[in-house]
Amino acid sequence: MDLIVARNRADLLAARREGTVALVPTMGALHEGHRSLIRQARVRSDQVVVSIFVNPLQFGPSEDFSRYPRTFDDDLDVCRDEGVDVVFHPGVDDMYPPGRQVSVSAGEMGRVVEGASRPGHFDGVLTVVLKLFNLVRPDLAVFGQKDAQQLALIRRMVADLDVPVEILGAPTVRESDGLALSSRNRYLSDDDRKVALGLSRALRAGAAQLTPDKIRTAAHEVLAQAGPRLELDYLALVDPATFTDVSESYHGMAVLAVAARVGSTRLIDNVTVTLNPS
Ligand code: AMP
Repeated sequence: MDLIVARNRADLLAARREGTVALVPTMGALHEGHRSLIRQARVRSDQVVVSIFVNPLQFGPSEDFSRYPRTFDDDLDVCRDEGVDVVFHPGVDDMYPPGRQVSVSAGEMGRVVEGASRPGHFDGVLTVVLKLFNLVRPDLAVFGQKDAQQLALIRRMVADLDVPVEILGAPTVRESDGLALSSRNRYLSDDDRKVALGLSRALRAGAAQLTPDKIRTAAHEVLAQAGPRLELDYLALVDPATFTDVSESYHGMAVLAVAARVGSTRLIDNVTVTLNPS
């Protein structure tokens, strides 16, 4: 079957087939991380829909909406290669016709950690994701653990608003040296890229420890070694379901998350750690 490109709601409706549908929401500039999500969608469903939409609602006024990479023709090649059935690529006016008033609030969980640095970001993410769910009506949707707080908030939204879709989380795909793949990595110069390795190194150093204080200390030490060109935004050790800070006596799985600016590029990464195992 040829890949169908749906540019609006009517195209999308016409592309719908019998059987189960899996949705992979993306902002394009597709890389191996997106490919791994698409493959998981493929094995779990009859029809795979990939959305490619750079969502203005989730960018702050001083963020990189206008310079976010847009590589649509290459993205179509990736989707063809991965056996995607439908690419949904709406325009901003198709997604947000004039007169819009109502949106999703991510609540307190959307205002901590990444949400504290990017006010309104998760409201924008949840609003577009809920719209995509309503437009595509997937049985399953696949999201990356790379954006751990986003994944946790989408699970929260689906539970809180009784959205009839199964959410699948997929592991972070990394370069062989540890750098998490990101559409924004293409902004990095060779020197920036070396500095950016400090993020995954710090997470690995933290994850080798077993208690919150030691994890934070080990990660901060490695971040400091990366030098002043790595401008730390936050390092947070949080409960994976709520994204609140864990206490020293916390037991079980936690997320160690980091955000930093390298040059003009803001990068995020995280790993799962097991605290105080008995
Ligand atoms: P984006 O296009 O950056 O909005 O990401 C679209 C989806 O791909 C989200 O669910 C991301 O979490 C996921 N994703 C981005 N980078 C990676 C990666 N390196 N590994 C796995 N999933 C990723």
